[in-house]
Parts: sequence; structure tokens; C-alpha cells
Amino acid sequence: MVNLGSIECGCGGVKLYLPNPRPKFRCGCCCSDCLQRAYIGANGHPPKAVLERRAPIDLIYVDSFFLLPDKDTRAQLSVFRLNDPSGANITLRAECCGAVLCTENQAVHVPHSMAAFNNLEPTVVSDFFDVPEMPFHIFTADWPENFAKRLADRETDELGMAREQISNPASEMDNLHMVNLIRAFQVPPPSMSADFISFKDLREELPLEVVHDYFEDSRL
Ligand SMILES: [Zn+2]
Ligand SMILES: [Zn+2]
Repeated sequence: MVNLGSIECGCGGVKLYLPNPRPKFRCGCCCSDCLQRAYIGANGHPPKAVLERRAPIDLIYVDSFFLLPDKDTRAQLSVFRLNDPSGANITLRAECCGAVLCTENQAVHVPHSMAAFNNLEPTVVSDFFDVPEMPFHIFTADWPENFAKRLADRETDELGMAREQISNPASEMDNLHMVNLIRAFQVPPPSMSADFISFKDLREELPLEVVHDYFEDSRL
């Protein structure tokens, strides 16, 4: 049996397999886009839940390649962007239950990497091996200040130390954590095959929707 990673939607209608089951990096993310995606994927949550969420999104960065999905699975997939039709993030969704499966940032992840979500069960279940430790959190500037502080306090209680918080990665690119993160994005897949398809090629034939103003609505 070949070892594979997988990403499955909450209803089980879509299960995608990844040829490389080992994530290349992991970090907690508090960016507004990740929070919006989490709540877009969790049908039934009110938009204001974006601002009430107390846990960062646990991102695992994986190779941007799937085993070729069958026709029925492909028919259940679509992609969306948040607010901006030319924005950098493009996200894969399961039409059956609306689960948000994974996302690729066209500015920084490509061509080798994309992000999957490690703590959004039961909405989406990501199954990978040797998931690395989470060394830090990024984009805490997008969070209310007291949330970031409470996160640090909680980690100090539970882990004996608070993970570093990089409030705005774009202005802290010299931070060693950021250097390691960006370097991880550039790691190519360990093997290639005609049976694999990249996120980029997969999404080419999928319907694209622009989802508007979710985060702004959440502030009302
Ligand atoms: Zn994020
Ligand atoms: Zn589903």
C-alpha cells in the first residue's frame, strides 16, 4: 500500500489524495483570509464568528499536487477567491457540503506548495504523516490585540512558553521563522508522475466564484 496524504470534505463526498503525505512546514495563521475561509467552509456559522474564533488556523503546507481525481470527484469541485477577482489566494471547495479543502497563494506558495487546514474538523479532514511541530503564528495583526495576548497566555500555561507571534509577515521577512517558511515553499515534490495533477492544472477547468465582503460583514 502506497502512503498517501488526503483531504476529505465533511460529508465524505469528496476525498482527494496527495502523492506526498509529508507536509513541508506548519504554522498558525490569524489572517483575515484564513478566518474567512474557515467560516465559509463551516456552513451554518454566523459571519461574526470570524471575530470570535480563539484558535489560529493550523496551516500545513503540502506539495501542490494531487493524484488525478476521478470524474465524479472533479464534478464536485469548484474554486473561489475572496473579495478581489485578481487576489493572490485561490481556494478549492467541495460543492457537496461547501467544505473549504485547501488554498494556494499565487504570490508566495507557487509553484510547489499550497496550504491545507489541520484543525477544521469536522468541516474538512486533512490526513498527513509526520506533521511537523508548529513553531510560530503569523498575521496576529489581523486579530484583536487581546486575542493574541490570550493565545500567548494560554500557550504559556499549556506548553511552558508562548509561540512567537509574527504580527505582519511582510514587514518581518528577516525573521528566521519567515526565512524558513519561504524556503519551505520552494521545496519541489520528491517525485513526479503523469498520474499527478497540480492545483493549478486542476483548477483550470473548475468554475470560479468571487465571494464578497464576508469579513466586513462579520464586523457589523
Ligand atoms: Zn492565513
Ligand atoms: Zn462534502
